Amino acid sequence: MSLGTLYIISAPSGAGKTSLVKALVERVETLSISVSHTTRRPRPGEQAGCDYHFIDERTFLGMIEDAAFLEHARVFDHYYGTALASVQAQLAEGRDVILEIDWQGAQQVRRQLPGCQSIFILPPSRAELESRLRARAQDPDEVIERRMRDAVREISHYGEYDYLVVNDDFNVALDELTVIVRANRLRLPARGQRMKALIADLLA
Ligand code: 5GP
Repeated sequence: MSLGTLYIISAPSGAGKTSLVKALVERVETLSISVSHTTRRPRPGEQAGCDYHFIDERTFLGMIEDAAFLEHARVFDHYYGTALASVQAQLAEGRDVILEIDWQGAQQVRRQLPGCQSIFILPPSRAELESRLRARAQDPDEVIERRMRDAVREISHYGEYDYLVVNDDFNVALDELTVIVRANRLRLPARGQRMKALIADLLA
């Protein structure tokens, strides 16, 4: 039986998802981020095996054929996917696992693991989202416009999620994510499973 909870966290780029998730796993024990596979190239500063498993398209397609992915999707012209084996192993050990994936992957995971919990992170306003997308790099207007369109498409799926967090004040958003994870840990039946010995003793 899987003891851990699987969390899906989605957001448009510019919502601050990655920084929030990093801070969350530093704060909450026995919580890990799943490292995805992707066919996109590493960005400066990204580490293979840490930020992503960077693989070529042939290897990725081979993994699809071998049914090695829990979910996979094409996002912004590249393939991204979550390998099933490592997620399963961590959940079985009782660790909670976070998947930072897009709405397409989220739909696939919900179908397979209905017990997962999904969280959508919103930026505080359209103007703030645009300024965060601009601040990222000195890109031409058409690139920013495309990013905005992609962001709006991702946001349009917010209603499919269990929780909604707005990243206006970073610490407030981090507190809200922490509360979600901690409250879920108290839920039955997983909590009952962890407390088996106590319950058996109390009922003896
Ligand atoms: P980036 O290339 O900026 O790291 O990520 C681009 C988008 O791909 C983000 O929306 C991110 O959530 C999504 N993504 C990253 N890893 C996965 C994955 O394993 N599966 C899916 N479906 N989406 C992913």
